[in-house]
Amino acid sequence: MIILDDHFHVDPFKGLFLEAIKQFHRAGGTHLVVVYKTAHDYGFQGLRAEDFIKAMDFHIELVEKINRETPVKAYAVVGVHPAEFVYLAEQRGLNYAKNEVMKALEYVQRLCLEGKAIAIGEIGRPHYEVSEEIWEASIELMKYGMSLAKEADCAVQLHTESFDEEKFMELGEYVREVGIKPYKVVKHFSPPLVKVAEEVGVFPSIIASRKNIEEAIKQGNRFMMETDYIDDKRRPGAVLGPKTVPKRTKAFLQNGLFTEEDVYKIHVENPEKVYGVELEE
Ligand SMILES: [Zn+2]
Repeated sequence: MIILDDHFHVDPFKGLFLEAIKQFHRAGGTHLVVVYKTAHDYGFQGLRAEDFIKAMDFHIELVEKINRETPVKAYAVVGVHPAEFVYLAEQRGLNYAKNEVMKALEYVQRLCLEGKAIAIGEIGRPHYEVSEEIWEASIELMKYGMSLAKEADCAVQLHTESFDEEKFMELGEYVREVGIKPYKVVKHFSPPLVKVAEEVGVFPSIIASRKNIEEAIKQGNRFMMETDYIDDKRRPGAVLGPKTVPKRTKAFLQNGLFTEEDVYKIHVENPEKVYGVELEE
């Protein structure tokens, strides 16, 4: 059985790295979407496009290592985290920051075209209060990332403030404006608003808490599951652990909340469609 966690971080400095992957695998996990953290987390400064590009190459190497040294199939998602943009704008000014982030995102597009990454992410806007200017610029960069993804026919994974129906509608407008295919836009850390997401043309990646997934499956199976595992030993329990998606999936199958068909849709058909990959057992 294929079980995929759609948003998982690894950190070879602060976290368990391969040990976390092995825990995921022992619990029944088979496929992982491994998302870039920040340049800073990887030991780079994050002050110029060059820094982001080095950090991105480092991330690709981590994913290659997972594929070489564990039985799990890992895919890379690479972007510039909205918090990195905010930091840079505060350090060096808005225009400089925008320019560097755009250059870095263009590099990600190349990684997608070369098949080294399956999506641009996490991009989006900060989950905390920032100035009006920075907020607007974040939205512009999010749309720029979407347009690069559209050109390369890859997906995006979006990081945003906490979401509700109204915010989904706003996001839907950007999706239409850019003209990217609706199933190529993944809302990471999505609340269980499966129907709303489908209406506005966004693909929800839902945090795999019991409550969320119970609510999500009532509305349908057009979603993916994620932990947003951050792999940081100093913050245990900050997010769900690496075993959560396989454990939750198996429990839901056992107690009848998921059918076999739901599991196949959530873990195979949905990611294959969104990322244009073929998942093999
Ligand atoms: Zn994340």
